[in-house]
Amino acid sequence: MTTQDSLNTVVFDCVVLGAGLVGAVIAKHLSDSGLNIGVVEAQNLEATPSLQDGRTTAISYGSAQILKEAGLWDVLSPHVNPIASIKVFEANTASSLTFNQKELNGCDDPMGYMIDNALLRQTFQDAILTHKDLTLKHGVTVQKFTQNHHNMVLTLSDNTQVTTKLVVASEGRHSPSRAQFAITATQKEYGQTAMVGTVIHEKPHNDTAFEVFHPRGPLALLPLATAVDGKGIHKSAIVWSSKDNLKDKDESDILAQLQTIFPYLGSLSFASKRMFYPLSYLKTSSLVGDRYALVGDAGHVMHPVAGQGVNLGWRDAKVLWDLVLHAHSLGLDMGAKTLLTAYNRKRQRDQKPLLYITHSLIKLFGIAPEGPGTNALHVLRSYGLGIVNRVPPLKRFLMKKAMGV
Ligand SMILES: Cc1cc2nc3c(=O)[nH]c(=O)nc-3n(C[C@H](O)[C@H](O)[C@H](O)COP(=O)(O)OP(=O)(O)OC[C@H]3O[C@@H](n4cnc5c(N)ncnc54)[C@H](O)[C@@H]3O)c2cc1C
Repeated sequence: MTTQDSLNTVVFDCVVLGAGLVGAVIAKHLSDSGLNIGVVEAQNLEATPSLQDGRTTAISYGSAQILKEAGLWDVLSPHVNPIASIKVFEANTASSLTFNQKELNGCDDPMGYMIDNALLRQTFQDAILTHKDLTLKHGVTVQKFTQNHHNMVLTLSDNTQVTTKLVVASEGRHSPSRAQFAITATQKEYGQTAMVGTVIHEKPHNDTAFEVFHPRGPLALLPLATAVDGKGIHKSAIVWSSKDNLKDKDESDILAQLQTIFPYLGSLSFASKRMFYPLSYLKTSSLVGDRYALVGDAGHVMHPVAGQGVNLGWRDAKVLWDLVLHAHSLGLDMGAKTLLTAYNRKRQRDQKPLLYITHSLIKLFGIAPEGPGTNALHVLRSYGLGIVNRVPPLKRFLMKKAMGV
């Protein structure tokens, strides 16, 4: 790794702001590809326990290919659990929808993979901390952006100055830099909090992910890998997004409810403490400014019901690095307006429908019926699940979206 002192003397090809789940991946890949990359991360990574993130991530099949390209998959793959099928159903009804990997023509690959976020973050942090060609400045932030015709100059909180062709902002949902590039963000609170945790169950999950539309809010049970030391432990992750205050609910009450919803997994017990994340939606007016591109949650935040947030962020990273590396190979400006316009156009095409579908799902399923079959919305939901199940092209379209291919 280049020494931190040299940061103010170097002109970087790109500076990545934020070394989280998306920023670390793009910084590593661009650096591996021969670009001169600086990373500015607000937290001191050596002092930040990644274990504080109690969530899990559903990595789509397409994202696994992106992480392979970034040289990160080999470290992650021993710890992931494949998702072979996804079963979606509405609580208290018989209507359900099953997505199975074998239904997607000629494809025997899993639909995706589950992994603990703590492990994901630790792997990415290690890759950044130990990278010999990448310059990391952590525990600092950008105080000022100054533009000139050919470069962007960043003044950091320790008074060093950094010059670059392109700023890649991956600072997460509260990105302080986007406002300085006249990008506005529309944010809506869902009024829901996601309760996350890990449960151990008696019977195997058979690599099945369950998504239940429950009157209290969408609940997912996602298959996790057995501990490396084996011992036949069956583990799944829970994500329960609810308007109710599940924090104050007794753990035994929650377990009793889970047991009723998932009777086929046998008895359940918590293997981790429960953690809580408030949920919001965020959409930005654009993903680009002058010599500036947003990737990941800095550019879009969605409800975790479809497990798509960081997958969308990794697709941002892939599209941006393809454009940047192509420009680099031709000796062109990596922060040129034409490049950024192309990035914005390509990403809006992927992002807009996904944000819309996810938001609509929450609206459609977020309203609890009085009882089975007693309100029009409930009937619509039941038909919806049934129709998708019976129309193969529609089902394949949704499966492809879920797999990120
Ligand atoms: C309950 C829950 C479950 C989820 N499950 C899934 C799932 O299964 N699948 C999925 O695809 N998505 C999921 N998501 C979404 C996913 O967690 C996010 O999309 C992802 O964390 C975004 O990554 P990021 O790199 O953009 O931001 P982060 O991972 O938040 O990283 C931002 C980084 O920027 C740094 N930073 C902040 N401010 C500054 C600054 N001013 N300067 C420099 N650095 C800064 C931070 O310290 C951090 O390191 C879930 C979200 C929730 C809430």
